[in-house]
Amino acid sequence: MASSADSVKGALWTTTAREAAPSADPFEPGRSVDVAIVGGGFTGASAALAAASHGASVALVEARTIGWGASGRNGGQVIPGLKLDPSEMRAAYGEERGSRLAQAVGGAADGVFGLIEKHGIDCEPNRSGWIQAAPAEKALARVQQRGDEWAALGAPAERLDRAALARLTGTNAYLGGWIDRRAGTVQPLSYVRGLAKAAQRAGAKLHEGTVATALVQRNGRWEVTTSRGTISARRVLVGQDGYADGLVPGLAKTLICVQSALVATEQLPEALRARIMPGGICASETRRLAFYFRQSPDGRLVFGGRGAVGDAENPAFFSALTAAMHRTFPEAKGLAIAHRWSGQVALTLDGLPHIHEPESGLHIGVGYNGRGIAMATLMGQWLAARALDGTEPPLPVTKLSPILWHSLKTPAIQLGITWAWIRDRLGFAG
Ligand SMILES: Cc1cc2nc3c(=O)[nH]c(=O)nc-3n(C[C@H](O)[C@H](O)[C@H](O)COP(=O)(O)OP(=O)(O)OC[C@H]3O[C@@H](n4cnc5c(N)ncnc54)[C@H](O)[C@@H]3O)c2cc1C
Repeated sequence: MASSADSVKGALWTTTAREAAPSADPFEPGRSVDVAIVGGGFTGASAALAAASHGASVALVEARTIGWGASGRNGGQVIPGLKLDPSEMRAAYGEERGSRLAQAVGGAADGVFGLIEKHGIDCEPNRSGWIQAAPAEKALARVQQRGDEWAALGAPAERLDRAALARLTGTNAYLGGWIDRRAGTVQPLSYVRGLAKAAQRAGAKLHEGTVATALVQRNGRWEVTTSRGTISARRVLVGQDGYADGLVPGLAKTLICVQSALVATEQLPEALRARIMPGGICASETRRLAFYFRQSPDGRLVFGGRGAVGDAENPAFFSALTAAMHRTFPEAKGLAIAHRWSGQVALTLDGLPHIHEPESGLHIGVGYNGRGIAMATLMGQWLAARALDGTEPPLPVTKLSPILWHSLKTPAIQLGITWAWIRDRLGFAG
């Protein structure tokens, strides 16, 4: 079976990125910096940009290439907010902190589009909004209330009935939903490359093909051992998300990693471009194993969903994904699949991203639960502010708590995913 890690080569974004890859900086073994960063995705690149813009010396190490992980191979949907609605954030964290969190995560898409404009990132941004579509009555009531909550806080959000949703998306598969016009889309690989290059212009050094293998604290400084030599740093920031290895003991066991896979059709004929997800709008559904879809800037239908556990790509999953696409958009049936790929999504038990600080000066941001473009960009800024100024992030710092029976969870999750697919195919899921 093909490897999910390697499938990035077949990703639509790899062949259409307008932003060139950043140039490599020379690696100087033994170099001393204020901040060392592990991981060249949105978390790492955003942290590097924030820290370097603050005047810190920064070295970022990436095992493969910038954007190689989830950041360069995702759906490109820039969605603000968290799993929790604003009222749930206030209930969970108290009135003051909860409101601060709602304001920060509610503005996360503004943050992304602001950075794109400020740094002139050529990532085909489109701010036409995101629709959360409900296939069942219960989910519809829940998400429309969510839209109402954000609208009451001043967000450009509104309810959609079945007809309005069908008009905007070209599918009749949903009862309705809500639209969040703060959201939009980007070409994700171009976005992450652009962020990294902005960090480089601000003075950060980027080291691709460099694997961090150990982090050791000595006399108040961190020694970062890498495949190319060591770096000495005052602070270390880690942004590995679904590609967490054994670098930070216990970190991978706090996460459940599942594959999310995408297919992209051949370019749609003009008539279909005007009917299927036209005008740059994007959408995902309320199901736990949600499908998500958009049109790419070059006019293809891009359709994704969550699938297997582990690195092996199952061809049956792509067939099932394509069948789901045809059920949602029957007009797409005759279109060839031109690209297919997958990557790792890191889920947490509470559905929220986490900030961990297992030792002083070691700051980790993970667990975006499939919604990391806006949130990981924000997280990178939070990690940099925390490392440089000790700023308290709106999301509380949590302990590294490995999930009990983590190794048993993988087969259990695979079973759950299979069951969810069966329910979906029988038309029960919602
Ligand atoms: C198929 C798919 C579709 C998705 N769709 C969307 C979407 O439409 N909208 C959205 O908001 N989110 C989406 N997501 C989620 C989003 O892409 C992620 O949450 C986000 O990219 C995480 O960014 P990150 O920088 O934390 O991690 P990643 O981008 O995964 O980067 C981690 C990097 O760390 C590197 N690394 C790991 N270990 C080491 C080491 N020891 N030394 C050096 N480097 C190391 C890896 O090589 C990798 O490049 C999707 C994810 C996937 C997989």
